[in-house]
Amino acid sequence: MNTRPRQHLLAIEGMTVSEVVALLDLAENYALLNRSGKTQRDLLRGYTLINLFFEASTRTRTSFELAGKRLGADVLSMSVATSSINKGETLLDTAATLNAMHCDLLVVRHSLSGAANLLAQKVEASVINAGDGTHEHPTQALLDALTILRHKGRIAGLTVAICGDIAHSRVARSNIHLLTMLDATVHLVGPPTLIPSEVESLGWRNGQNAPRVAVFHDMAQGLAGADVVMMLRMQIERMQRSLVPSAREYFRFWGLDKEKLRYARPDALVMHPGPMNRGVEIDSGVADDPQRSVIKEQVEMGVAVRMAVLDTLARASVRHAR
Ligand code: ASP
Repeated sequence: MNTRPRQHLLAIEGMTVSEVVALLDLAENYALLNRSGKTQRDLLRGYTLINLFFEASTRTRTSFELAGKRLGADVLSMSVATSSINKGETLLDTAATLNAMHCDLLVVRHSLSGAANLLAQKVEASVINAGDGTHEHPTQALLDALTILRHKGRIAGLTVAICGDIAHSRVARSNIHLLTMLDATVHLVGPPTLIPSEVESLGWRNGQNAPRVAVFHDMAQGLAGADVVMMLRMQIERMQRSLVPSAREYFRFWGLDKEKLRYARPDALVMHPGPMNRGVEIDSGVADDPQRSVIKEQVEMGVAVRMAVLDTLARASVRHAR
């Protein structure tokens, strides 16, 4: 067994159950600490965290900033719009620049699947994938799991319905890996054009008798028995052509409203990674229902999870070992 601490967080795929559980336990501690208003300003004192976002972000970028600051790191967010990256500098030139600056933790978001991986091979810093193309968004899956755990007390044995644009969603991919790893059943629900055909042969873990990942092209069937309903945005920026007739049509068949939510268990949680398109994949009646929606808590848990990730990687970093 590989017991070397991990230097980067690039994907949920390939992580061990104990690594995931340790991060979730630590994040739960940070969630409690954040609510009590206490901070841990010394932990990352002297460390430099750089946020390198090539794609738009609100929640992820600000929560990494906040997480770094709460732990005492020097935090810098590079705006791609005003940097040399816009003047044609390659990702590898950028990596060399960051190395010269002795950055310790590098948070990267990029439209190319594999970009974080590539940077991890070229920089000395610990790299955290904050979303690469349609590949993975590991901290989102961790914060989703923490939110579910806080409400349901477990992941094993739950049924989580992930609905909408699965094909272009790195959030869906990371969640499928994490939820099946922790023994949940995942229902993927959406129109055939938005669910990749290879979905059941991607190596996603299947249970011995029942498959752990099942595909449904109907909300009533896909939501039946669900403990959690996770809605996804249509990732228009990643589509070569329009894959659905119209937003109105889409909402009629696939948008979550109070009526469709009745297909799920009566205590099912409603989740969404944001940004939401109200009236397209989700109705305000459910998105803002405090009895069912945990969307705001997902944002809160995002800070706690990112503190746990920064803490864990900093302890394992080359610099810490010096
Ligand atoms: N914020 C998430 C992501 O970056 C989901 C989305 O954009 O719809 O993947």
